Amino acid sequence: HPLTRPGGAGAAPAAEVAVFGHVIDGREVMSADGATFDSVDPYTGEAWARFPLGGAAEADLAVAAARRAFDEGPWPRMGRRARREILTRFAELILAHGDELALADTRDMGKPITQSRGNDVPRTADNFRFFADHALLATAEALPMDSGHHAYTRYEPAGVVVAIAPWNFPMMLESWKVAPALAWGNTVILKPAEDSPASATILARLALEAGIPPGVFNVVHGYGPDSVGAALTAHAGVDRITFTGESATGRVIAAAAAANLTPVSLELGGKGANVVFADADLDTAVDWSIRAIFTNAGQVCLAGSRIYVHRGVQEAFLERFVAAARAMVSGDPKDPGTQVGPLSSAGHHAKVRGYVDTVAAAGGAVLTGGLGEGLFVEPMVVTGLGEDAPHQREEIFGPLVTVTPFDTEEEVIGLVNASPFGLNAMLFSENLSRAHRVAGRLTVGTVWVNCFFIRDLRAPFGGVGDSGVGREGGTFSREFFTEPKAVVMQI
Ligand code: NAD
Repeated sequence: HPLTRPGGAGAAPAAEVAVFGHVIDGREVMSADGATFDSVDPYTGEAWARFPLGGAAEADLAVAAARRAFDEGPWPRMGRRARREILTRFAELILAHGDELALADTRDMGKPITQSRGNDVPRTADNFRFFADHALLATAEALPMDSGHHAYTRYEPAGVVVAIAPWNFPMMLESWKVAPALAWGNTVILKPAEDSPASATILARLALEAGIPPGVFNVVHGYGPDSVGAALTAHAGVDRITFTGESATGRVIAAAAAANLTPVSLELGGKGANVVFADADLDTAVDWSIRAIFTNAGQVCLAGSRIYVHRGVQEAFLERFVAAARAMVSGDPKDPGTQVGPLSSAGHHAKVRGYVDTVAAAGGAVLTGGLGEGLFVEPMVVTGLGEDAPHQREEIFGPLVTVTPFDTEEEVIGLVNASPFGLNAMLFSENLSRAHRVAGRLTVGTVWVNCFFIRDLRAPFGGVGDSGVGREGGTFSREFFTEPKAVVMQI
């Protein structure tokens, strides 16, 4: 549909539609039945790329290829140093093809190019480097026993790993799963989200170029329910399922995995709480709070989507926060000046619009922002909502933030912990004791103090409650992607 933004209205129709295949057993192929689907650029509204639509047949082919590569191929047997060399080459190729990868994610789901090129590409490469290094350097435990026996651990690769990814940080979240799985000697089948499939095929092409043997890193395209996603998660030939996506999907996948007793790791939705105490440095708090909710148009599992501000500083905070929200530049995501792109798809826009349209009915006041043109929602700041409003409880996954006052530390801890989600929280305070005290009492997987988004890949990452099951990162990824084995010896 027509857009009047630069590059939108009157933009030439996509000159040609790019075609990307599945990558199975080292070959780029279409589906056996010839079925395809298109990816629509949410800024132009045009289909820019075409993909094979996989089903049970492609799931079977990919699992068979990954199983062969695991049982008979060199990858699990070549040792961690040799794998590290190949994965490091892969990381270098990712950087060298950064423009192509970044544009693929930006066209697929509308994230600003500065984000995909400046953040997601280097983070993707870094994930492969980090986990290759980590696997090489990780030590195993040796346990001398009083009885004179000696026990030690071995971390054997788990086998065939299925990785299912969402569309909000396509290549970056895929690499967060694929990198540790490969580094520990597994073989992988990645199913990217149907709204952001292109970068996965590019990654698989580059993996082959880097020397990762055929069948070790496979990519299949398609949908979830009644499609290749469901076929993969119900497959008895799979040893691990690692999933990132919505909490409701996580429940379906956990049930499918249970039938085969397949271990599953679930990184699910969030409702990040962001607490600004009266003793906060307000400039720091405003700066991070803006980035926490409006980066990637709020389509971030960690988004700081509910801000609790101490009543004493609420007015001062809101004045600066609203001004900063108004100053954000939305536009063509391919333009380096753009900070906020369109939402990822018409379907997702309709979901977010449901929340935008009901703010007033729920008792809220909009201080700035709202529906824009096309699939845009301009950064939206809402006050006055009660804790039972859907906007306050549910994951909106868009650029809409609620701001609510509180009076005491005890009260705000209760407000944060009342959410069914428990992925992350932020707190802003210049009082060291308060920061440690409150961080310890929040039922979430990550607490950021006076910052946000900062990650150490050795740290655990994951959520409590509806935000997930399990942790990934460093040794936590090793626990999931290996079968730790005890060997006990009589000395
Ligand atoms: P989604 O659950 O709709 O889809 C995620 C993936 O699962 C897609 O590849 C989809 O095709 C597949 N899928 C859907 N149903 C399936 C089924 N029955 N069987 C197998 N596969 C199935 O999620 P989304 O809309 O793509 O992503 C947004 C969600 O992801 C948000 O809730 C967000 O919070 C969450 N997320 C979480 C994290 C985290 O680390 N915790 C990170 C990013 C995104």
